[in-house]
Amino acid sequence: MDCLFCKIAAGEIPSAKVYEDEKVYAFRDIEPQAPVHILIIPKVHIKSANEINDENCAIVGHIFSVAAKIAAQEGIAEDGYRIVNNCGEGGGQTVGHLHFHMLGGRALAWPPG
Ligand code: 5GP
Ligand code: ZN
Repeated sequence: MDCLFCKIAAGEIPSAKVYEDEKVYAFRDIEPQAPVHILIIPKVHIKSANEINDENCAIVGHIFSVAAKIAAQEGIAEDGYRIVNNCGEGGGQTVGHLHFHMLGGRALAWPPG
């Protein structure tokens, strides 16, 4: 499958890895929007949040448990951070493999643009 994030998770395209286990891969965004900007992805190809269902939704809980560990590792747990999923073109999704942005290390405005 010609998917950028599947290739990154498989190590076929280099990335700045932050965390990896058998189900999840996390790496630094190439265009960081905050001092900490990490992408957390399932290794299995799921196109977007629209494709989360009763069969595959356990990965989302696992991603959030990994996110808490990463936040502690990155030193942003106490000050706080944001986890964002952009779904579809209107939601700002540009890579068609489910991913969660973790943004922290600065004060974040709300609502996002
Ligand atoms: P989206 O817009 O789909 O929610 O987020 C995609 C993110 O992937 C963007 O923040 C973009 O900077 C990041 N990105 C795109 N290509 C690459 C890449 O090759 N390597 C890394 N590390 N990040 C990428
Ligand atoms: Zn993929």
